[in-house]
Amino acid sequence: QRIGYALVGLGHLTLEELLPAFSECKKSKVVALVSGSQDKLQKVAQQYGIKPSNLYSYEQYDRLKDNPEVQAIYIVLPNGMHAEYTIRGAQAGKHILCEKPMANTSAECQAMIGACRKANRKLMVAYRIQYEPNNRMIREMIQSKRFGTTKFIEAFNVQNSANPQHWRHIKALAGGGALPDIGLYCLNTIRYLLGEEPTEVFGYQYSTPGDPRFREVEEMVSWQMRFPSGVIANCGTNYGVHETRRYRVMAEQGWMGLDPAFAYNGLQPEISYAEGKVEHKESPKIAEKNQFASEIDHFSDCIMQNKTPFTPGEEGLQDHKIMEAIYQSAREGRPVKLAEITKKDAFR
Ligand code: NAD
Repeated sequence: QRIGYALVGLGHLTLEELLPAFSECKKSKVVALVSGSQDKLQKVAQQYGIKPSNLYSYEQYDRLKDNPEVQAIYIVLPNGMHAEYTIRGAQAGKHILCEKPMANTSAECQAMIGACRKANRKLMVAYRIQYEPNNRMIREMIQSKRFGTTKFIEAFNVQNSANPQHWRHIKALAGGGALPDIGLYCLNTIRYLLGEEPTEVFGYQYSTPGDPRFREVEEMVSWQMRFPSGVIANCGTNYGVHETRRYRVMAEQGWMGLDPAFAYNGLQPEISYAEGKVEHKESPKIAEKNQFASEIDHFSDCIMQNKTPFTPGEEGLQDHKIMEAIYQSAREGRPVKLAEITKKDAFR
């Protein structure tokens, strides 16, 4: 038995990653497509064997309500459209898997959570890191204190973004610049690794003057987060430099991290520790799994077993609250304290 999905938005992520990932899923299948392009709908449907009667334009989206083959909707649209399509999808009686970042603002996240709750449908943010074995291994090393107490974390996710016309550079469609798009991985992964929530953030923001890519959204954000255990995380994201994706967790007797981190594949753990006077360096290899397939099957499993997803809407909301505090700190030039957050059941 497999959960039937409608994929909404036939852009890069859907075509290059998600459709192939579904072929590796064990509990999930694509049964319907929603797109603004009739041409794309026909081509993709033919390639993946999707029935012509299960192809929808955006105007026909609400008609998914009448299609019992569709149990879940996977929203893969520009960030600024996530809230509307989640809310309408829940009102159509479907469970919602929504791409990251969850929305443009925390207020939109609240509305999405409310709509899914009201419709008694599940909502999951399509984060990958939490379903990926290398990150899980490092989380386990941190939480079991393999190298003693963690003190400091450093994380960077930066890349060159080339096209100023792309929706990622339009505030209404993207919500922000590098921070919600790629910086989010640093933030979200560190929260996952530590299993605790930051109590205070401090941020700097900068955009190169005159660069057409950064008329509406920021080029870079550099920020720090303080955690209740005493850990301080130092993070950076940037749309204007050559790609770097990595993190390192520094503990009393060793450090561990991924370089590269956050990528779809090819993640490489790096571990260093001392035994007496001998320094060890290890680069263990873990069998790769398709991260998207793991994440999608997790959601299907939650629907089948009536369980709460590991990354529910509240998880996306929390990330947005923290990003808003980082922007506020950068604007006001001072640290911003975050309201006390109760640890969710999923992280116990
Ligand atoms: P994309 O630009 O390649 O695709 C977006 C799709 O939305 C296109 O098919 C486009 O036609 C459609 N669309 C509908 N209305 C639009 C409008 N008004 N303006 C622009 N496009 C419109 O983008 P993508 O890279 O596929 O990203 C889609 C979503 O997936 C984003 O939320 C992004 O953050 C997320 N994403 C997640 C990951 C991940 O690793 N989880 C990776 C890449 C993208």
